[in-house]
Amino acid sequence: MLRITGGKIFDPASGINGEVRDLCIDGGRFVSSVEGGRTIDATGMIVFPGGVDVHTHVAGGAINFARAMTPEDHRRTTAFIRGQSRRSGLGGVAPTTFATGYLYAGMGWTTVNEAAVPALSARHTHEELKDIPILDKSSCVLMANNEILLDLLEAGEFARAKDVVAWQIWAAKAWGVKAVNPGGVAAWKWGKDTKQLTDSIEGYKTLTPGTIIRELARIVDELGLPHPLHLHCNNLGAPGNIWTTIETMKQLEGRRAHIAHMQYHAYGGDDWDTMRSATVEAAEYFNAHPNLTTDAGAVLFGDTVTITADGPWQHLLYKLTGRKWGNLDVENETGCGIVPYTYRPSNLVNAVQWAAGLELLLLITDPWRISLSTDHPNGACFWRYPEIIQLLMSADFRRECMKKVTPKVLDRITLPEIDREYTLYEIATITSAGPARALGLTQKGSLAVGADADVVIYEEEQDIARMFSHPRYVLKAGEVVIEDGDIRATPEGREFIIKPSFDPGIEAFLKPLFEDCYTMSFENYPVEIERVENAEIHPCGQQA
Ligand SMILES: [Zn+2]
Repeated sequence: MLRITGGKIFDPASGINGEVRDLCIDGGRFVSSVEGGRTIDATGMIVFPGGVDVHTHVAGGAINFARAMTPEDHRRTTAFIRGQSRRSGLGGVAPTTFATGYLYAGMGWTTVNEAAVPALSARHTHEELKDIPILDKSSCVLMANNEILLDLLEAGEFARAKDVVAWQIWAAKAWGVKAVNPGGVAAWKWGKDTKQLTDSIEGYKTLTPGTIIRELARIVDELGLPHPLHLHCNNLGAPGNIWTTIETMKQLEGRRAHIAHMQYHAYGGDDWDTMRSATVEAAEYFNAHPNLTTDAGAVLFGDTVTITADGPWQHLLYKLTGRKWGNLDVENETGCGIVPYTYRPSNLVNAVQWAAGLELLLLITDPWRISLSTDHPNGACFWRYPEIIQLLMSADFRRECMKKVTPKVLDRITLPEIDREYTLYEIATITSAGPARALGLTQKGSLAVGADADVVIYEEEQDIARMFSHPRYVLKAGEVVIEDGDIRATPEGREFIIKPSFDPGIEAFLKPLFEDCYTMSFENYPVEIERVENAEIHPCGQQA
């Protein structure tokens, strides 16, 4: 039992904007009153619901490969020495599992969605998610390049395709469905890509990326999944890709979708020399279509490592930069590429990217529909979120930062013309209430009675980045996990899993395909529920 008194409450889910109220907690949730227990005096402090990251990469084969490919980073990074309350670990561009939990919780984030899980390696992902302390988790299974599914879509067998997707979600113990460069990663196995929605896909006769997107969005809707299709569009990172992105949003025909890391999909121009920000066009379309949510995929200058299932893009990035390159092929399902990267203010393309992420956050008018993200670790590491919050809350600070980027960029971006400054209420929306709603996690992102008691309490100060980096208290399920900059407790988190219904007969269809095509036997493929940490299983019924 615990009571938080006197704090200024920012709870967008209940429309509470800075009112002084008390919060009462019992049994890990908010309740209307408690007798006894600890009282935290939060007088004069700012109280937010715990942060929710709608799109991050913290567990599994790809991030693990990235950790291995950045040994030079390990030497210069924050080290967590084993102590009474914590295990050892490393921070840096791709933090290790334990450190990931400490660093997220240390700045007040208590729930994360691992955005890209190949079903074939989902067991590894869940083992690492289990390692990450404090946080609650969910994950999205990669489906838009799964060859069994693509074959069914090409054959027009929609009902069976829907059963396959539902079966795969449960096999991977996932929460949602992710599409990455639909068709393009499958084509990459032959060294090809698919950049436009009408492109043919190597190995298929009539199937196009547009068909995959439409059918997957329909399947997700008909299965009644709480989180809409999580969509990484085709043509990521390329000059002029705004037209692919807008065409993708049109293909959805009003269906729900979450457009991942929109910054990487909002470029104009014809080539690298003429590349410019096209966030005005992106925001204009997005603002007019309430079926969509997105996350920023913002970029900050500095070192990081890029990791994505978008194998062909990573090969291009390697060609452009000459940095190290790793490529993984996940049989029949997806792939992944890793390239360490440094965003530089003197580099015109990087300067456009930096501005574009901020522009989207400022030009998209409804903060409920755009979440703060860096597509960790792609645009920057998640522990740099407070720097972005400062950029959003202070137009003066943005102007100061713009003096440091190459002046050539100024006629290619919109940022200098934007005066909007985020309020604390809007920050609470893009960091917690909005992403929780986008994920369909109804017990998250809220300080209302009945919601999970994940709370972050900041001491108000002028230095916004410092304030958001160092909360005074962080509570997870009502337990104080961070206090005065120290980790006080490292409880285990939970994992949210969806169990869609499907025709059990689908296994008789899948099994022979596994015998033919996979190195893993059918029986060993689904992740056992016992492997998942404190699984919270949500059923969902098929809609007509
Ligand atoms: Zn991502």
